[in-house]
Amino acid sequence: MSVFSRLVVTTLPLVPKFLVGRVARRYVAGETLEDALATVAALNREGVMATVDILGEEVTERDKAEWAVGEYVRLFDAIRERRLDANVSIKLTLLGLKVDEGFCRDNVDRVAQAAKRGGNFVRIDMEDRSTTDATLRIYRELQARHGNLGVVFQAYMRRALQDVAELPATGANVRLCKGIYIEPREVAWKGHDTVRANFVAALEALVARGVYVGVATHDEYLVCRAVALVDRLGLERQRYEFQMLLGVDTELRRILVAAGHRLRVYVPYGRDWYPYSLRRLRENPEVARHVLRATLGRR
Ligand SMILES: Cc1cc2nc3c(=O)[nH]c(=O)nc-3n(C[C@H](O)[C@H](O)[C@H](O)COP(=O)(O)OP(=O)(O)OC[C@H]3O[C@@H](n4cnc5c(N)ncnc54)[C@H](O)[C@@H]3O)c2cc1C
Repeated sequence: MSVFSRLVVTTLPLVPKFLVGRVARRYVAGETLEDALATVAALNREGVMATVDILGEEVTERDKAEWAVGEYVRLFDAIRERRLDANVSIKLTLLGLKVDEGFCRDNVDRVAQAAKRGGNFVRIDMEDRSTTDATLRIYRELQARHGNLGVVFQAYMRRALQDVAELPATGANVRLCKGIYIEPREVAWKGHDTVRANFVAALEALVARGVYVGVATHDEYLVCRAVALVDRLGLERQRYEFQMLLGVDTELRRILVAAGHRLRVYVPYGRDWYPYSLRRLRENPEVARHVLRATLGRR
């Protein structure tokens, strides 16, 4: 990333919200359930699966978390009625983790039951380190009860390999990503190549344990390592999938699908798009150019 882009990243929170919205539009399906369903249908036509996320996090009011549960139930109903190839992703801090862990677990339980009625699946996203232990506790308890949940491991976390080793492997389904939250060095690897190395080690360990893996990255090096691993082991297509974010590297997405790999795109929607969009823009190597163009009113 250029020095100018780094400067833009640091000052992003000062950029007016409407400009952030203009630049970040590609990362979000829209504000409504209908917007998300239209995006999923278009992806399915390309042979791509989806995981739909309702935007929102760090909720401190019970009402908001309960609204989210209802919206997830509506989402599962719509996926089933329209026969879409999609599951959902949830953030525990949207479902009330910061209110109370038991309240959150009960909300996730309701979402998992709604998923089960339609034979569907719930992925629990991993948020910052303050939520990791509680997320794994809720995942373990509800996965043992329902069997239709999956979790996420972040390769930048020093604990990642330990978490892989301690995961009850039977029926487990893990998304492996690098991790997006800004964590201190005590808990997270910082070097780009170090995180890559831990990603590959975690991927190999998950596959060795027979876990279904969602390889969630746009990093061509890691995609290449994953493809090589799959080929070397002769892993069946039903044992893994690639995962990418909406609006990121559609060319790589097409290449993987054309090569016959299963691929799922993360489709976020909702009115609380701002924090998610900031995180995505921070990762865009061309953020400076995009912000400049949007500021000048050009797309
Ligand atoms: C499906 C999915 C789910 C995820 N879930 C979680 C989660 O639960 N918890 C969590 O902490 N993180 C999650 N992440 C985010 C992940 O941790 C990384 O922050 C993100 O994927 C970028 O890392 P990368 O592996 O693509 O590598 P990077 O090195 O960041 O990116 C590789 C290349 O991809 C392209 N690229 C990456 N991001 C962008 C962007 N925003 N705009 C344009 N180009 C881009 C660039 O060409 C870049 O050089 C998820 C990612 C995916 C794909």
